[in-house]
Amino acid sequence: MCIFCKIVNGEIPSNKVLESEDALAFHDINPKAPIHVLVIPKEHVESFHQVTPDIMAKLTPFIQEVAKKLCIDKSGYRIVTNIGKEGGQEVPHLHFHILGGAPLVWDHRSADPHKNI
Ligand code: 5GP
Ligand code: ZN
Repeated sequence: MCIFCKIVNGEIPSNKVLESEDALAFHDINPKAPIHVLVIPKEHVESFHQVTPDIMAKLTPFIQEVAKKLCIDKSGYRIVTNIGKEGGQEVPHLHFHILGGAPLVWDHRSADPHKNI
């Protein structure tokens, strides 16, 4: 069972922000912004590339509600989802990073310095 499925079933504790029947939001253990929350579907889906429209339809209003609860809906925030190896995905369970709480820079450097533009 993957690490985020273990968070869903309570085997691994998490600092929850919001929960619904189908989704869970919790603070990232290693925050990269003043606010860094992860939103996941409770059902195991490997990445955005495998997600169904039905699950996305539930996740969209859930993410909007999470942003409201975090009070970043008006100031703005960023949603990131890493997909697969070159996308930098480390946990193979679909998750949306919700980042905010300060102005964010736009930086997507490559891990290979020769491929940076
Ligand atoms: P990825 O690189 O797959 O897009 O992001 C995985 C994220 O999960 C990372 O930001 C990492 O800090 C976070 N993470 C990994 N393990 C745990 C955990 O056990 N609990 C929490 N709350 N976050 C985790
Ligand atoms: Zn999983």
